[in-house]
Amino acid sequence: MNYAIPKGTYDILPGHLLRDDPWKASEKWQYLEKVIRNLCRDYGYLEIRTPIFERTDLFVRGVGDATDVVSKEMYNFQDKGKRQMTLRPEGTAPVMRSIAEKHLDQIDSHVKLFYIGPYFRYDRPQAGRYRQFHQFGIEALGESSSELDLEVIDLLYTLYQRLGLKNLKVLLNTVGNASSREKYKTALKTYLTPHFDQLSEDSKTRFTQNPLRILDSKNAKDQEILSNAPSVHDFLDEESKEHFENVTRYLQKQKIPYEITPKLVRGLDYYNKTVFEITSDVLGAQNTIGGGGRFDGLLKNLGGTDLPAIGFATGMERILQTMIGQDCPFPKPNAPFVFIIPLGESPKELCVDLTYNLRHMGIPTHLYLRGKKINKALSQAEASRATFALIIGEDELKNGMAQLKEMQTRNTTTFSLSTLSQEIEKLWSKR
Ligand code: AMP
Repeated sequence: MNYAIPKGTYDILPGHLLRDDPWKASEKWQYLEKVIRNLCRDYGYLEIRTPIFERTDLFVRGVGDATDVVSKEMYNFQDKGKRQMTLRPEGTAPVMRSIAEKHLDQIDSHVKLFYIGPYFRYDRPQAGRYRQFHQFGIEALGESSSELDLEVIDLLYTLYQRLGLKNLKVLLNTVGNASSREKYKTALKTYLTPHFDQLSEDSKTRFTQNPLRILDSKNAKDQEILSNAPSVHDFLDEESKEHFENVTRYLQKQKIPYEITPKLVRGLDYYNKTVFEITSDVLGAQNTIGGGGRFDGLLKNLGGTDLPAIGFATGMERILQTMIGQDCPFPKPNAPFVFIIPLGESPKELCVDLTYNLRHMGIPTHLYLRGKKINKALSQAEASRATFALIIGEDELKNGMAQLKEMQTRNTTTFSLSTLSQEIEKLWSKR
């Protein structure tokens, strides 16, 4: 096939048309989006939608050129005006760009935003890792106290709970404020210097660019070397320590189970103080379902006000995959209220009129146009999970009456064709 879908991407389709993974069903995506929107309403977060491409510099500056996301995975292109553009690989930098550019913090210094949309990273595709994937994320600004850390972690944990996810682990850490972080960086470098030659190539590069990221390494030798490395917790100053202790106390109060994971630093450069990730037990190697942290200096770094901020992003594919892996409930897909079956040519026109009458009243109506085999039509009505079936043939036309069949009970009621729309409307409003 010449026009095959690009590697690392997939189509989201109505469930009954899917030939492979059930998490690609559009009704499941709609359900997830609905739960997210309700959750954001409950916590007071409002939606932001930014362009899917931005100037490349935004990500270089906002995410950091030492990160894999920026140095290896970006979809860059030059537009016709010879500007360097990038398909957004993450959501935080664009949101901060929007806040800084439009001075949104002058309108609301405690702005709380959420986003849902596609993101792009050129990486080796594998289960749970795509080149176009979808994230739900939030960003909360203006508050440096630990109450906001709780709110952000609780919101993510509550999302997973509302969706019925089980066996989640909240991995929690702090990377300290800027001065603690600097002290720890120096100590880590001092510790790693005698082992430098044995480090992986990636870690060697990170050693100069961002040594904390070496802690993220999946390389076995790196991890062996790191087993005796100093812990960030020994370098925290009073402010960072107190902040972290408050976060853990609040999490305990809200009964959110967490594990302190001293090596967790997260991939991006901009984090300070609290960082966290939530993992799922059914995802295999790519088991992080969502993660985030504080990034107090980022807005200023992108030309905005110096406001503290915290947020997270969670992968929507991985949420749906976990839900399916754990047999979490999904609502039944939408079904028609009335399934109208014209038997033959002559009742067709009346059935078309009736169908549009009902649809224009906002009543989900399906018109069956695939022939006049009644049994086949009724089994289609059954498969569509319609509430009622309505069969109109020559006899019904002649008598001016028709039978409405309730699919579940098989009960039928006879109505005059002249008042049928009104009768169906009454049933619809009583449902
Ligand atoms: P990050 O922005 O890297 O912290 O990612 C946040 C979340 O987005 C991860 O925990 C994943 O659930 C999801 N994610 C990141 N990259 C990908 C990808 N390439 N494919 C699918 N999901 C991803």
